Amino acid sequence: MSGMRPTGKLHLGNYMGALSNWVKLQDKYECYFFIADWHALTTDYADPSRIKLNTLDVALDWLAAGLDPEKSTIFIQSHVLQHAELHLLFSMITPLGWLERVPSYKEMQENLSNKDLTTYGFLGYPVLMASDILLYQANFVPVGQDQQAHVELTREVARRFNSMYKTSVFPEPEALFTPSPKVPGLDGRKMSKSYGNTIGLTEAPALIAAKIGSMSTNGQRIRQTDPGDPDLCPVGDLHKVFSPPDMLAATQSGCRAATLRCEFCKFDAAKSVCDITDPIHSKRMHLESQIEQTWEMLRDQSVKAAARAEQTMQSVRNIFDLSHDLGSVRRHFMASSEDLIKAHDLSQHSAWWNLPHDQRAKLLRDFWRSNLLPRDILLSQESNRVFTSLDRELEEPFLSVKKKRVFVTTSRDIGVADKWMFEIPFRSYEVWTLLCWRNKNKWLHDFVVPQKFFSQQFALAKKSLKKDEKIQVAITRTDSNHFHLGIAGQTSRNIDELQSNYEPLK
Ligand code: SF4
Repeated sequence: MSGMRPTGKLHLGNYMGALSNWVKLQDKYECYFFIADWHALTTDYADPSRIKLNTLDVALDWLAAGLDPEKSTIFIQSHVLQHAELHLLFSMITPLGWLERVPSYKEMQENLSNKDLTTYGFLGYPVLMASDILLYQANFVPVGQDQQAHVELTREVARRFNSMYKTSVFPEPEALFTPSPKVPGLDGRKMSKSYGNTIGLTEAPALIAAKIGSMSTNGQRIRQTDPGDPDLCPVGDLHKVFSPPDMLAATQSGCRAATLRCEFCKFDAAKSVCDITDPIHSKRMHLESQIEQTWEMLRDQSVKAAARAEQTMQSVRNIFDLSHDLGSVRRHFMASSEDLIKAHDLSQHSAWWNLPHDQRAKLLRDFWRSNLLPRDILLSQESNRVFTSLDRELEEPFLSVKKKRVFVTTSRDIGVADKWMFEIPFRSYEVWTLLCWRNKNKWLHDFVVPQKFFSQQFALAKKSLKKDEKIQVAITRTDSNHFHLGIAGQTSRNIDELQSNYEPLK
């Protein structure tokens, strides 16, 4: 995961410092690259008029340089609203002191003294950055050394979140530093838009040649008969970054011996630069003729990014349990047994039948947790962590308040024949919770089966089944509306008393 602020067309410094590296990384990793238009607002909030144009410019340059939407997800930050949501939630847990310590905070305020950066948004931009990275549960962040503090802060936010909410939603990402040669600007200082000394990545070759042709030699070779030192001349530095070894060697010796005229040296440097930029320039020209398609691609890719971001946000929202449905608080207000009976009624959710079993099973288990599981179980500190995680692997047990291992599962059957089959792995669970959805009346029956109820049959079944075979369990409903549980084909027993009896979970 990495991104760039949309500051318009890219220059050679951006390319050598980040973009060329990203192009290589996309063959090795599943990559997400985003244009950070909300970040642009942290400094350009007073005049956002160029941000969209700049965003498109950056996208065209990325594509021209070889970022490939077939390999990587390339998207626009503001199109994925989950960035803002996670930023808000992280803002709640990030101490102010962490932000005031970020070195770039003071530095940027000083460098951009023409802008008022004493804003809440500007102070919080490293939190937005942490959200950008953690939203995709990224493992690596390719950045320059100057961004190290931001990645460190991201790790701290992840650590704080995980430990505060006893979860492991966020991996701690690592900075992926790559050697990025210092590209000299036309005046010898670091190439930067703010110095006005850039060579554009997609500029026409003639323009690049003209710019390099008029570069200063930093006082070297004032007379062409004087020997010079290529290490002190920005053109010499350009050769170091862009020229092949034989040309670099010839330039250095020719400069020192005064046998190479500066104009030829600059011509060679321009050739080396254009060898890299020519194909990028041509591709950009082509892409500019189809900006609608490019914009459409960015929108599609943003939808793809949002789908990935949403996965993370679902886990995060579960932790805060501020979801839109009444969910876990509903049961607290169920005073009468009539209310409790109503809570089993799933008739509003008949659309679930069209879903694949795994999705339906997850929804049913979530529904059970939110609506039927008693509040005193759900809200105990231990079990809150446990029972909010029911969307994990079916076979993973959940711990009750007293650390009992609970297996919660849903039958694949829809109760048409008033029979539900379950497959339970051969592990030592202390409670089975078996959910049966009856299609006829859209009713959810839940049976909480304590170990003492199945231990004998379990032991018998263990003798006849192989280690990794699953134990077959059946629940049947009789004509007289009684429920029976049969374990591994043994004699079935009445389990009416286990229906909606949550005692074993306490
Ligand atoms: S020969 Fe090249 S490196 Fe040497 S001073 Fe002239 S332009 Fe600079």
